[in-house]
Amino acid sequence: MTAALQPPETRKVALIGVACGLGGADARCADAPAALLAAGLAERLRARGLDCEKGPVLAPDGSGSARRQVSRLCAHLAAEVGAALRAGRTPCVIGGDHACAAGTWSGAAHALAARGPLGLIWIDAHLDSHTPRTSPSGRLHGMPLAALLGEGDDALRELGPGPLAARHVCVVGVRSFEREECRLLERLGVRMFFMEEIWQRGLDAVMADALAIATEGTAGFGITLDLDALDPVEAPAVATPAPGGLRARPLAAALAAAARDPRLAAFELVEFCPPRDRAGRTARLAVELTSAALAGAYDPPASAAAAEAACGARNYDPLPIVLVRGQGVWLWDEEGRRYLDMMASYSAVSHGHAHPRLLAALEAQARALAVSSRAFHNDRLPQFLARLCELTGMDRALPANTGLEAVEAALKAARKWAYEVKGVPEGAAEIIACEGNFHGRSIAILGMSTEPQYRRGFGPFPPGFRTVPYGDAAALERAITPHTAAFLVEPIQGERGIVLPPDGYLAECARICRSHNVLFIADEVQTGLGRTGRLLACEHEGVKPDGLVLGKALGGGLLPVSAFLAREDVMRVFRPGDHGSTFGGNALASAVALEALEVLVEERLAERAAALGPVLLAGLRAIRSPLVREVRGRGLLAGVQLDTRLVPARRVVERLAAHGVLTFDAHGSVIRFSPPLVITHEELTWALERIRASFEELDREARRAA
Ligand code: PMP
Repeated sequence: MTAALQPPETRKVALIGVACGLGGADARCADAPAALLAAGLAERLRARGLDCEKGPVLAPDGSGSARRQVSRLCAHLAAEVGAALRAGRTPCVIGGDHACAAGTWSGAAHALAARGPLGLIWIDAHLDSHTPRTSPSGRLHGMPLAALLGEGDDALRELGPGPLAARHVCVVGVRSFEREECRLLERLGVRMFFMEEIWQRGLDAVMADALAIATEGTAGFGITLDLDALDPVEAPAVATPAPGGLRARPLAAALAAAARDPRLAAFELVEFCPPRDRAGRTARLAVELTSAALAGAYDPPASAAAAEAACGARNYDPLPIVLVRGQGVWLWDEEGRRYLDMMASYSAVSHGHAHPRLLAALEAQARALAVSSRAFHNDRLPQFLARLCELTGMDRALPANTGLEAVEAALKAARKWAYEVKGVPEGAAEIIACEGNFHGRSIAILGMSTEPQYRRGFGPFPPGFRTVPYGDAAALERAITPHTAAFLVEPIQGERGIVLPPDGYLAECARICRSHNVLFIADEVQTGLGRTGRLLACEHEGVKPDGLVLGKALGGGLLPVSAFLAREDVMRVFRPGDHGSTFGGNALASAVALEALEVLVEERLAERAAALGPVLLAGLRAIRSPLVREVRGRGLLAGVQLDTRLVPARRVVERLAAHGVLTFDAHGSVIRFSPPLVITHEELTWALERIRASFEELDREARRAA
């Protein structure tokens, strides 16, 4: 009798365990069948409406070499799989290490042979296509696919000539392999879907191709799932974890879609290693994926957003998008959806995500020396500070971590300078800031804030701060007293909603400060390091500040690195013990920041922002929408002021995300656009096209609602 295949509604499953880890990197994979049965695998399949019969749990017979035992076990398994198929059941093989695939799929292929060849989708981080000649480890779990394709002369091939034809086989999720394996599969003509292609095209598109390969001209198809195909963040309990893998949610959906195809002949799940599964998380996931792959239905693994909501403080209200990967200007969420990052983490990711040079600097320095405190010197800090001073034209730099820490250092320097150099009476120094400012959220800095929500409930605040209207130089001059130490200003108010002062404002303020012996301190945490088309936004008006605050992009999008820079006579007020930070200036941060500066110069990021900024602004201004009141910006820092009576900002950022453009609002009324400076003209055009489409939809909806 030949095997009968069924759609999921009438599918009868035969569970077959393979308690063997002899072919793998961790022999404890042998415990997997028992652990998955204990985790309720059979019950879950039945709960999904499948007729599920628990078959045997096969184990090595213990006599002779490991290779001989695996070989005999595979023969036994092939017979069990064949028998199940002939009995009208869909085998569900639970390994064990992946060597068992030689048994599962030769058994399935022979059982179906009278009707045609077997197709196979091999989901795995690895290619498993070594022969004994090419395998570096000699382990059988790295060889079963080659054996099934008739290559190699190993124990795994004693089952007979390779039963699979390369044109009906494909591998999905590959990211860790040796060149010889790849060459072998290329020579045979096996389609390999590497992770890179999956990130680009999405898993559902790739799985649709995989399904076509495995079903066209075949009698049926199988799926073998090596759990290490999943990212170790989600499935850590595997024998050979490999970073950067498939995410559980899209994989479960793709398996469920495949399971609805009545040509599914068998499913196999391997390489689960229970002793590594401390909280039982991988077992639960394996049960759900098996249920998806056989019943076509599953409980989607919980989103990280829900987990965060359960135990995190509620000081943010993020979009319900869980990001799992960033590369250049692109971001991916846990569903595998791709977005263009039009926010670059408020300018912190100006270099793009995972810049290879910055990653190399990070890794090399992390291995050499990371954190050793400022009680001793490290050999990277001086190089970083020297380059930073050289590029900015400042005399000295004080390293810190986050932007607000560097702002605090600036405030302390200004006060001490006022007392020691300017001669202001102790305790009387004043610092002038601007209305609508954002310099961070420490209690001292909030003393300067004019945003009620940032302050409400957090007072009292230290005295000594006053504010003047932004963009009004005469107001600054009126506010200055003999006790004024410094004027702290953002060249563009980013957090307020990309607010630009009138032309000439910074130069006029700098002149006023000089004439009153007041320090002009520029907070360029957001505008600095190329963002506005010059290294510093102050350069647009030829202004050289007395003090300068940098942050965000200084860390290359990898680490928090900030600095306060100043003239010699200002920085001189700090003496040993006056100020410090455990992590500030550590070797790791210094190495990454130094490389971030070199990349900034060599990749001409400021020049890129200068060239593409007008494209961004013109593109945004070309959106003729009643929802948009104003478009403003400079370089690659732009804001779209909305008419919030017609549309809430949240709806706009949600719609943009639905179109593959990620960004966020400022103050509920301005949509910010500040992509990584490495963005290309083509990518920017792509984003502008989608932004335009989003506004067109929102316009239509607003008209309908009116
Ligand atoms: N200054 C400015 C101008 C900023 O935009 C920010 C952050 N948005 C900060 C300071 C504070 O930086 P951090 O969040 O790293 O403390």
